[in-house]
Amino acid sequence: AKIRVGVVFGGKSGEHEVSIESAKSVMEALDRTKYDVVPIAIDKHGRWHSGDNAVRFLDGGWATLAAPRSGEALLTGDGMANDAAGTEAQEAGTGAGAQDTGTTAALHDGGEQINSSQALQPVGGSSVLPGHVAESIDVLFPVLHGSYGEDGTVQGMFELLDIPYVGAGVAASAVGMDKILMKRVFAAVGLPQVNYVYCTRTEWEKQPDLVISRVEEALSYPCFVKPANLGSSVGISKAKSREELSQAIVLAARYDRKVIIEEGANVREVEVAVLGNDEPKASVAGEVVPSNEFYDYRAKYLDGESSLLIPAPVSGEVMDEIRRLAVLAYQAVDCSGLARVDFFVEKGTDRVLVNEINTMPGFTRFSMYPKLWEATGLSYRQLIDALLSLAIDRAEERR
Ligand code: ADP
Ligand code: MG
Ligand code: MG
Repeated sequence: AKIRVGVVFGGKSGEHEVSIESAKSVMEALDRTKYDVVPIAIDKHGRWHSGDNAVRFLDGGWATLAAPRSGEALLTGDGMANDAAGTEAQEAGTGAGAQDTGTTAALHDGGEQINSSQALQPVGGSSVLPGHVAESIDVLFPVLHGSYGEDGTVQGMFELLDIPYVGAGVAASAVGMDKILMKRVFAAVGLPQVNYVYCTRTEWEKQPDLVISRVEEALSYPCFVKPANLGSSVGISKAKSREELSQAIVLAARYDRKVIIEEGANVREVEVAVLGNDEPKASVAGEVVPSNEFYDYRAKYLDGESSLLIPAPVSGEVMDEIRRLAVLAYQAVDCSGLARVDFFVEKGTDRVLVNEINTMPGFTRFSMYPKLWEATGLSYRQLIDALLSLAIDRAEERR
């Protein structure tokens, strides 16, 4: 019998559109002689859609990102973070969302729809996903990035449902999403990193001067200021002075209650794809050359001018070191399935520093993660096969 694969995409995070692109690539590549593909969409409000209703969301990927409509929020949804993101998107001269509004409206009249709190109540017996869908699914592939997708929350739901799923478990996902927890775990296994300081939103609101002096004591300008729990460079600024630092913290604190401030390194950015459960393997490393001053949201997704150099033009020594550290980082956070581990290579010294781990990296055919495996000898299709087997193996080992 064919394996029924539920491909979950969209999601409440700012990476909704990116996720749709990744999911389209995955669904196209899934070998229909081996798999039945079940699309499952999560809209920007967190509601789940299946069947034809899910398929309709597949039109909302880059198409909406690539067609800027001024005055509209790029990231829609609830809450402060999304408002802030909308502002940033407008500053960048972009925006999308008209299509989503249309799609959501269409879904209201007749679409099968449940929200995530309803989702935890059994529908038709033991399943929580819409209707008959979850009952018959053998393995889920959550092609979801960012909050509520890559941060352990949806993984927790899959655990409760007892359905195998691709990628990292609850703890690894959560640690990988939180840049402060991640840095502590990396430090515990001796991974080299940039110096950093962090503060909570409360500390910043009550004692901004203390926060500034803590930063200035520990770091020098420029520094990078980031919300602790996000991705895709949303809410990140490079601060070159005390004034810029304050502004950057205010911005980052709109997205998260924790803010991390890092020493700005003068670096090349090199990334490694890691694949496996208990015996993870590292791909060759690739270099990202951002089109902007740093690899911000625009350089990642909008202008299409950042380039990927595969393999990264670094010495054999640096290449080996990066691949070794990538596996170490992967195991440090107890990842499974896949992750992309991102490094800084300091210009001049070639010193290697771990930047971060992404437990559900961009997964279109053209994304770094699959490209790195292709260069290492594993095709996109073989990679997806491997991920689905790893998901099933992991679930079996835990039973
Ligand atoms: P995200 O999880 O959103 O990708 P990152 O921590 O990777 O966040 O930061 C995004 C980008 O910002 C990096 O790819 C890099 O271009 C730049 N950057 C972040 N931190 C630093 C740093 N400490 N020094 C130099 N550049 C940095
Ligand atoms: Mg990240
Ligand atoms: Mg990054």
